[in-house]
Amino acid sequence: MPIEPFRIEIPLGIMFQTVNCYLIPGEQLTLIDCGLYSEENWDLFQKKINDLGYQVKDIEQVIITHEHSDHIGLLPEIMAHSNAIVRAPKVIEGWFSQPTEMKKRQGDFNKKIFSTVGFPQKIYNQVLQFVEMTKLGRQIQEMDRIHFYEAGDFLRIGNTEWEILNTPGHSLTQYVFLQKQEKRIFGSDMLLPIAPMPILMENPNKKDEPVQPLIDLLHSFERLKKYNIQTVYPGHGETFQDANQMIDKQLARIQMRKEECYEAIKNGLISPYQINRKMYPYQFIPPDFSGMYMILGYLDLLQNEGRILKSHDKNGSMVFSIK
Ligand SMILES: [Zn+2]
Repeated sequence: MPIEPFRIEIPLGIMFQTVNCYLIPGEQLTLIDCGLYSEENWDLFQKKINDLGYQVKDIEQVIITHEHSDHIGLLPEIMAHSNAIVRAPKVIEGWFSQPTEMKKRQGDFNKKIFSTVGFPQKIYNQVLQFVEMTKLGRQIQEMDRIHFYEAGDFLRIGNTEWEILNTPGHSLTQYVFLQKQEKRIFGSDMLLPIAPMPILMENPNKKDEPVQPLIDLLHSFERLKKYNIQTVYPGHGETFQDANQMIDKQLARIQMRKEECYEAIKNGLISPYQINRKMYPYQFIPPDFSGMYMILGYLDLLQNEGRILKSHDKNGSMVFSIK
């Protein structure tokens, strides 16, 4: 019999209201992802574990899907209060061994990207404030308890084997865990009730160049559709059935919004900020970047289709025109 995971919701405050951790009993008491760090969240996490009849020290294995602060935040506390071994993607090792440096590097890249989207100075200053805002938990002392995995490896969760897939889109470093026979998946931020945010990050192969995360996301959707996944345990929101229906809905919406973006350029809006104000009127002010990331994604798609041209104005900001 498949073992059903317990969903533990930890408050988040921005974008989604909460982030999910999953506790899975079975051969080894396993936790997938660790919520955003704060003292209140740590108290709440312990309480929720107790309510399920366990204690933090009972956790034997912690599995991390990607390095975003809402997924790894409580890991140092959990490690300090248990003997759990940790399994995490090889590509995010630096986030455990030198988190301050990694955070600074990512912050610098974000500042650079957001300086080219046409934000007015006041809003750009708010962006800078937000980039500084997320807190890191305590530094992990016992690196030898972290075991690193790669795509194609298998994890033992509950009483069965789950294949690890790397699904770029939300992040290049996004991993999901698939039980092929049971058609179940821990979808993290790849399969969600709303379209995942295509977060820009530096291309590891091209210094100073961003990846094209929405294009990656579309490819990952197509790959996942082949598995006809029935049950999704997402990183945010409630468990849902029929992944392909959700994927098709999100793909259709992305295509529709991409056309609206094209229309906006046709109507004379030239900077990502102007297009964002038009397409996400209630969302253009930080700290909610989800709209801006979607706009930059639609612009990538339209450029890829050869329908628009990108150039830069005298300040180095991106401007777009119809081809
Ligand atoms: Zn994430």
